[in-house]
Amino acid sequence: MVVLNPMLIKHPLRLTVRSAIFLAAATLACLGQDPGRSGVDVAGTFPADPQIQGALRQISAQRIQTNIEKLVSFGTRSTISAQNVQAIASGRGIGAAREWIKSEFEHYSKDCGGCLEVKEDTFTEQPADRIPKATELTNVYAVLKGTDPENSKRIVLVTGHYDSRNSDTLDVSGDAPGANDDGSGTAVSLECARVLSKIKFPATIIFLTVAGEEQGLNGSRHFAKLAKDQGWDLEAVLNNDIVGGDKSPEQDHSVVRVFSEGLPAAATEQDIRRIRGLGGENDSESRQLARYIADLGRAYDTGVKPMLVFRLDRYLRGGDHSAFNQQGFAAVRFTEFREDFHHQHQNVRTENGIEYGDLPKFVDYDYVAAVARLNAATLASLALAPAPPGSVHLLTKDLENDSTLTWTASPGGLAKDYEVLWRGTTSPEWEHFQKFDNVTRATLKLSKDNVIFAVRAVGRDGQRSLPVVPTPER
Ligand SMILES: [Zn+2]
Repeated sequence: MVVLNPMLIKHPLRLTVRSAIFLAAATLACLGQDPGRSGVDVAGTFPADPQIQGALRQISAQRIQTNIEKLVSFGTRSTISAQNVQAIASGRGIGAAREWIKSEFEHYSKDCGGCLEVKEDTFTEQPADRIPKATELTNVYAVLKGTDPENSKRIVLVTGHYDSRNSDTLDVSGDAPGANDDGSGTAVSLECARVLSKIKFPATIIFLTVAGEEQGLNGSRHFAKLAKDQGWDLEAVLNNDIVGGDKSPEQDHSVVRVFSEGLPAAATEQDIRRIRGLGGENDSESRQLARYIADLGRAYDTGVKPMLVFRLDRYLRGGDHSAFNQQGFAAVRFTEFREDFHHQHQNVRTENGIEYGDLPKFVDYDYVAAVARLNAATLASLALAPAPPGSVHLLTKDLENDSTLTWTASPGGLAKDYEVLWRGTTSPEWEHFQKFDNVTRATLKLSKDNVIFAVRAVGRDGQRSLPVVPTPER
């Protein structure tokens, strides 16, 4: 970055030999302070894996359309709608939707020689604001267990909510088609399961569909707590909610928003003090996940570009990823660029010439397929990658202008070497990196005062782990 002397800009003819020398020296001096003067540019270096590219090509907009139309065919998927045997047999209500999702996962599993374990997480939610009486809720999920004994403990997860609502959250019987909100997210989980179950990954992938989102994130809250209580090594959660690319004229079908929390919901007082002291407000694990998705958006031709939004969710609104954030997991939310509020949380009707309701005809299936590709690329990349390095520290015992980082080896044996990443403190994404052989300590000729560092592990075929930002070590 070169800051020109304003005098020279105002009076370009005054550029004498002396001032030219001054300018050159100033340029060099400025470059000397540029945090990015060494290392390799990060952008464009994330390699595309041919196996993942093959899987992305199998994602089908036609399949997604069939699945969303099927979900809409249950009339309502309100969490408090009927789910008894008769309702399931009649094909109306959340119980029938749940049974269909289960059978769909089982179908994919049959096609991969039983590679998916299809499971239910059923619990009773006690009466609350939007739950008039004790209600049984069921999350349905499929587990593609990792093939490597050590790495199979690592989990990445994709989720969408299969419940729906209309204008009245307490309406148990009126139509609530929920094609976009969140038939689209449910279809993303299903389609990712279908195409990724044909590949073997060292780490585990979970394809989840939850209930209760519209009644208060009940399903995801229960599932996230289960993950926490059972000590899951859950590295990443991708929540897809309203990814239908509503066909309103102002829609931008070339991008999908990726929301990530800044200050972690699970941060302790001590964490917050450290974050405040170090300028770490922009470096939650969820935000590293969002940046990782941005890298993949450049590596793969998915048909949609991630647009990072550095905010937990849309303004004053919420979603299932926050239930995972609350338990300390990295989780982001995908949502179309522009929501059409006539087409969500509305009874199906026409009023003053405006069509209301969350109907399939407003969904752009090619867009949902593109979002599914971006999700599948993220799940697959993480499940093939080594585990992140552990205990990443920045040494601060001595005051010095170099920076020394230490870490413990990525567990699980998939790491070949490591990269130290850095960026200017005002930069949204990682800018540069330096590669290091299989070591656990690196010194860089860069001042820790001026940049933000992270370390990631690199696998044999260039797969990258999520980066880990160091904590100070005295
Ligand atoms: Zn939703």
